[in-house]
Amino acid sequence: MKYDVLVIGGGIAGIEASLTLGDAGFEVLLVEKDPSIGGHMIQLSKVFPTTDCAGCITTPKMAAAASHPKVHLMTYSEVKEVQKTGKEFRVKVLKKPRYVEEDLCIGCGRCEEVCPVLVPREFDYGIVGRKAVYIPFEMAVPKKAVLDLEHCMMCGRCERACPKDAINFLQEPEEVEITVKAIIVATGYNLFPPEKKKEYSYTGNLTLIHTNLNPNIIHSMQMERLLAPSRPYHALLRPGDGKVPERVAWVLCTGSRDKSLGNPLCSRVCCMYSVKQALLYTSAIPFGEAAIYYMDIRAFGKGFEEFYTMVRDLGVYFIRGKVARIESRNGNPVVIVEDTETGEIREDEYDMVVLSIGLLSNPELSEILGIDTNSYGFYVPPEENANPVATKVDGIFVAGTATCPKDIPDTVAEAAAAAAQCIAYLKEVGT
Ligand SMILES: Cc1cc2nc3c(=O)[nH]c(=O)nc-3n(C[C@H](O)[C@H](O)[C@H](O)COP(=O)(O)OP(=O)(O)OC[C@H]3O[C@@H](n4cnc5c(N)ncnc54)[C@H](O)[C@@H]3O)c2cc1C
Repeated sequence: MKYDVLVIGGGIAGIEASLTLGDAGFEVLLVEKDPSIGGHMIQLSKVFPTTDCAGCITTPKMAAAASHPKVHLMTYSEVKEVQKTGKEFRVKVLKKPRYVEEDLCIGCGRCEEVCPVLVPREFDYGIVGRKAVYIPFEMAVPKKAVLDLEHCMMCGRCERACPKDAINFLQEPEEVEITVKAIIVATGYNLFPPEKKKEYSYTGNLTLIHTNLNPNIIHSMQMERLLAPSRPYHALLRPGDGKVPERVAWVLCTGSRDKSLGNPLCSRVCCMYSVKQALLYTSAIPFGEAAIYYMDIRAFGKGFEEFYTMVRDLGVYFIRGKVARIESRNGNPVVIVEDTETGEIREDEYDMVVLSIGLLSNPELSEILGIDTNSYGFYVPPEENANPVATKVDGIFVAGTATCPKDIPDTVAEAAAAAAQCIAYLKEVGT
């Protein structure tokens, strides 16, 4: 199969780049490794500093990509091999088995209803469960079920319930060979695993009540899910016991600006998303108290400083200091910190603590594509500061958080830049 451009990664960067290229008349193949496009943005609650609903912005873009005559989606698929010969790239893509025939599935969810297995739901970072056969989330694109064979009991209930006979336990991985003229890499970021910061007592297992790990210490993406209009519970409840959290704290720079964890980089979005989450929390629980522990607030973008000041004026507490430890008292997290403005050592008890985790690189394709990364694993241009979307391979461009941590407006701007440079390149080499 031949396309003009291969876009790898179906987050907001990959979707924007694909739509720009498609609108310009180029045939685009968008390959996404997860069962749905949308990336991290579709999981967010609202976006700073405007507090617009993230899902309301992302869903129309996802639908536009799916229905665009020039954009072709290949989800649940991974790029395995890339070879440049002359002006063309020959690419092998592995389509993983869904065990559900994609062209037959109508996304009705009957298989999900009858499945007896419950495992942590990835989309909500384990706050609630999903079935062994499931639609990844309500607005998934494509809205097709996927069967997780690892947890399936092979009871056959989904097979009997499916009105379209779409369940196929015998499906095999499929290798697809394609040829393209250019590639845009938009593979985004990974989240810092909070359990690595041992002093903060995060438990990866929210149902596990352990002596020192506390299920009421959650990470910021879990908080995004709790605050989202599409949130798993209809009310904001803490995971440990379902109580309404009346005092919540955010601990900034968890896994960022921390040499001891090998990541001295600033993640650029944690200050602002924590300020946003504190605002959304106090709007959801008007009697709730919110506190933010910070080293300094980096409100660098348009309208960010005003947003931060507004939230501070609304009564959110800001305590300057790097949190030393988080302990537990009667099931409640206790934050231990030196307030660097007063010199006082504080022990503050909360109902829930949110770890504002940083953004790490996702360099998994650097070898396959033959493109360079910096020492932190983010893709880099051939010369430092030359052209942020170029790589050392002619015809391969990068966009979004694949190049460094950034917010959505910067991601979208970079995706447009990558698409524009890709168009210029395609005109040069001829399509
Ligand atoms: C808790 C939190 C809250 C945030 N809130 C805000 C906010 O309010 N406002 C704001 O501006 N920014 C916010 N951000 C930042 C925002 O999430 C990013 O700017 C944005 O999502 C980056 O988009 P992206 O497309 O670059 O990456 P991603 O969203 O990471 O998308 C990358 C996509 O590529 C896919 N992929 C990865 N590897 C492969 C592969 N090998 N093959 C195929 N596909 C692959 C992934 O599955 C994913 O779909 C927040 C971040 C966090 C952590």
